[in-house]
Amino acid sequence: MKVLTQEITLDKTSVKLFIRREDLIHPFISGNKFRKLKYNLLKAKNENHTTILTFGGAFSNHIVATAFAGKESGFETIGVIRGEELSIKINENPTLKFAQECGMKFVFVTREDYRLKTSEKFISELKQNLGSFYLVPEGGTNEFAIKGCEEILSKEDSFYDFICCAIGTGGTISGLINSSKSHQKVLGFPSLKGDFLKEDICKFAKNNNWNLISDYHFGGYGKVSEELIVFINDFYKKNVIPLDPIYTGKMVFGVIDLIYKNYFPKNSKILLIHTGGIQGIKGMNIKLKNKNLQTIQIND
Ligand SMILES: *Cc1c(COP(=O)(O)O)cnc(C)c1O
Repeated sequence: MKVLTQEITLDKTSVKLFIRREDLIHPFISGNKFRKLKYNLLKAKNENHTTILTFGGAFSNHIVATAFAGKESGFETIGVIRGEELSIKINENPTLKFAQECGMKFVFVTREDYRLKTSEKFISELKQNLGSFYLVPEGGTNEFAIKGCEEILSKEDSFYDFICCAIGTGGTISGLINSSKSHQKVLGFPSLKGDFLKEDICKFAKNNNWNLISDYHFGGYGKVSEELIVFINDFYKKNVIPLDPIYTGKMVFGVIDLIYKNYFPKNSKILLIHTGGIQGIKGMNIKLKNKNLQTIQIND
């Protein structure tokens, strides 16, 4: 699959910046979620499963992607959703509403129960209540997801010196690391606070040419600042490339900030991976409006 790469012009730097538009792969199964589901759906088909079960929060790109991909490939889908209070608010939540329209069924659980989601007891209770299913972990990350993410980079991409991506669970960066070349450096920008990521990435990553840059989470997962929103709107005006506020907006903000702090050597060629997530803008704008804050101005 050939995905569009665009150059982003920057003033007053010798660095060359490019962005790989994985967000254009599919309107609903966007970016890395497409990559992560590909081999999981194949495995589920090969094992004759009829139902896919997965996990996610209120605005999860992965929930939307699984709901839509499931419908397209003939699977029933079940989403275990973090937050019991959401069960009566589906119509106010564009992410859950869309997933439901794709036929996804929901199991709403408390935040405490959600934390147990990887325990055998929790999963066997789900099986007792719901029948058999193929389980895709939160964020879609497992060995089959990594295999799909390894396909983001191809031979020609050895041209780049740096490859940058946003991080949630670490699956995407693991795939990028595995298919990168030793002269390249892969930089990950976590969109959440926490030191656990490094260990998680080490489980899947086969090379050590990577680094985490933890200064651009903007307060944590799902948190945004006025400065970030202004940046996303400005970036859209200049480049007509939409960024999402949870992942790619923070990563691109971070890379450009580092460029002007001279983090990158002269004439470096940097590839940004646009992992998608544009569906999350609607939900974020509802939150911003409720707080009387500036919203994200992107035509979609
Ligand atoms: C899920 C997601 C990520 C995080 O990917 P991980 O593999 O979980 O690190 C990054 N960007 C976007 C747009 C996402 O939807």
